[in-house]
Amino acid sequence: MHELVEPKKVDIVYETENPVTYEVIDHVAWVTMDRPDFNNAQNGQMTYALDDAFNRAVQDDDVRVIVLAGNGKHFSAGHDIGTPGRDLHKQFENRLMVPPHVTKPAAELLYTREQEQYLGMCRRWRDIPKPTVAMVQGACIAGGLMLAWVCDLIIASEDAFFQDPVNRMGIPGVEYFAHAFELPPRVAKEFLLLGERMTAQRAQQFGMVNRIVSREDLRAEVTSVAAKLAAQPRLGNWLTKQAVNHVEELRGKRSAMDAVFHMHHFAHAQNDLVQGNSIGGLGAKEMAAANKKQAGEA
Ligand code: ZN
Repeated sequence: MHELVEPKKVDIVYETENPVTYEVIDHVAWVTMDRPDFNNAQNGQMTYALDDAFNRAVQDDDVRVIVLAGNGKHFSAGHDIGTPGRDLHKQFENRLMVPPHVTKPAAELLYTREQEQYLGMCRRWRDIPKPTVAMVQGACIAGGLMLAWVCDLIIASEDAFFQDPVNRMGIPGVEYFAHAFELPPRVAKEFLLLGERMTAQRAQQFGMVNRIVSREDLRAEVTSVAAKLAAQPRLGNWLTKQAVNHVEELRGKRSAMDAVFHMHHFAHAQNDLVQGNSIGGLGAKEMAAANKKQAGEA
């Protein structure tokens, strides 16, 4: 029998009370990640603020389309692995019938947290009954990919790029394993094994990105597409996105993700056993340095 543990006490310093802003313009809810000083790194505070914002948009009959955006230079640098607001050991009120993670020993802690905050939330958002559009500029890395991928459409600026470098941590991709659905298998292997940046232009060749426009035209393009979606029938929009999502399920997306989620957690556990750190000691600084080194070699 494995006993519960005392929650770990860690200092968390949030730079903002509102890591996500919410605005409705012409039947479109603009949900904007707002941690620009940390390139919109996703902490638990942001996860639940996103969930609140999406739910608010779903409950409001005046909202017909949802846009997910990131304030600042980059869409999202991924999960928070090194800001003062990193809140891995903070317990939020779980939304998905998942027990508290902070009282769990060893690998059970992260497994429980990521069932709720990463895999579970992303699936919940992917199934939102209104069309969703990701507006992506600059970096869309690792955990950022998950946020863009759960949206129905992705509209990117010319300078946007996509990357999942977590193989460096010995981990086979981020928790919401859509890689081999978003990209052809051999390209997904390259993307994951090398962990290099993929330009928006290359991503579009594989259908991972719908449209690319200049940074200055990005908001106008997203506004225009959202207006077209808002003018379509509400139920038609819901059924249509469900129809395509269902085809993905028939292709095994859900069961593939469940399988890879467990490989992901085997990797976290191995890192903990060998290095005493679930992400292989690679925090935000180390990942940024590794990116620079890789770019220099390329
Ligand atoms: Zn993980």
